Amino acid sequence: MEILKVNNLRTYFNTTHGLIKAVDGVSFNLRRGETLGIVGESGAGKSVTALSVMGLAARLGAGVTDGEVWYAGKNLLENPTLYDSVRGRRISLIPQEAGSALNPVLTVGKQVEEMLRVHLSLTSREARSVISRLLESVELPDPGLTARLYPHQLSGGALQRVLLALALCCEPDIIIADEPASSLDVTLQAQVLMLIRNTKARQGLSMVLIAHDLGVISQNSDRVLVMYGGRVLEAGPTPKVLGGPLHPYTMALLEIYRVMDQGMGEVSLTRAYPPNLYGNNRGCVFADRCQKAADLCWAERPEPQPVGEDRVVACHLVETESSHE
Ligand code: SF4
Repeated sequence: MEILKVNNLRTYFNTTHGLIKAVDGVSFNLRRGETLGIVGESGAGKSVTALSVMGLAARLGAGVTDGEVWYAGKNLLENPTLYDSVRGRRISLIPQEAGSALNPVLTVGKQVEEMLRVHLSLTSREARSVISRLLESVELPDPGLTARLYPHQLSGGALQRVLLALALCCEPDIIIADEPASSLDVTLQAQVLMLIRNTKARQGLSMVLIAHDLGVISQNSDRVLVMYGGRVLEAGPTPKVLGGPLHPYTMALLEIYRVMDQGMGEVSLTRAYPPNLYGNNRGCVFADRCQKAADLCWAERPEPQPVGEDRVVACHLVETESSHE
C-alpha cells in the first residue's frame, strides 16, 4: 500500500539565463515500509525533488512548483499550510551536509529540544529524558555529553547520527534521507547506513534514500528511480533495474560505477557535458550523451512507459524494441 504519491512534480527556477527545469514531470509512489532509492549524477534533480516533496522549493528560490504530493489522502502542494503539521512530524528530512544543517550556535541538546517543543509541545523538563533516549537510540556513546556539545565539536559520523535523531524525534512515518553518509569515509558510511537500515526496520518507517552511489542504492533500497536532467528515466525493483538495466543512461551509470570501482580510469560519459536544463528541450534529455540517439530522440521527448511488471523506462529505443517483441 502506498504511503506517499507524487504526480507530475515540476520545480522551475527563473534565472538571468532563462528558465531552469530542475524537476520536470517527476512521478513516483512510496509503499509503506519500503525504501525507494533515487540515484543519478549531480544536477539530476534528486535533492530538488526531495525539497519539493517537503514543500521547501520556494526557499531555494523556485519560481514554479507544480504537481501533486499526496499524503494521508491530501494533496500537500494544493494546500501548503498542511505542511505545518506534516513536515518534521510525519515526514522528516535528513538533509545533505550534516555540518551546515545544524545551527552552529546551539548545543545538540538545545536543537533536539527545539524540535520537541515546536512539534510535540514538550516542556524543557519533559524533553530532557526524550533527548537522552533519542541520542542513545542512534548509538551515540555518551548521550549526556553529546547533548551539551556544539556541532563543531562532533565528528562527521556523530553529526550524521544527530541528524538521524532529529529526523526521528517526532516518530515520523516517512524519512527522506538526502545523501545521508556521502561525506563520510567508507567505514563510517557503512556504519551510518546500517544504523539507518536497522532503525527503519525497527520503527516500521518508509524511506526515500537519495544517493549518487549505485552501491549505496543497491544495498539499501527495494525499488529505485534513475533520474537525469530533472526527469525519471528508469524505475523499478532495484535488483531488476541494476541487474538488467534497460535505459542507456542506467547502463552508462553502471559502467561508470564498474570502471571506477576497479580503478580503471574514465569512461566516455564522465567526459561529456552535464544535461542542459534550460528552456524547451523538446527531445530526450539524454540525447547529447547517448550513443544510440536517433532523429526521433531529438524531436520528441520520451515519457516513462510501463515495461514489464512494476517497471517504467523513458526511451524511444526501448519502446520500439518492446513493441517488436
Ligand atoms: Fe538514447 Fe534516444 Fe533512448 Fe534518449 S530516447 S536514451 S537519446 S535512445
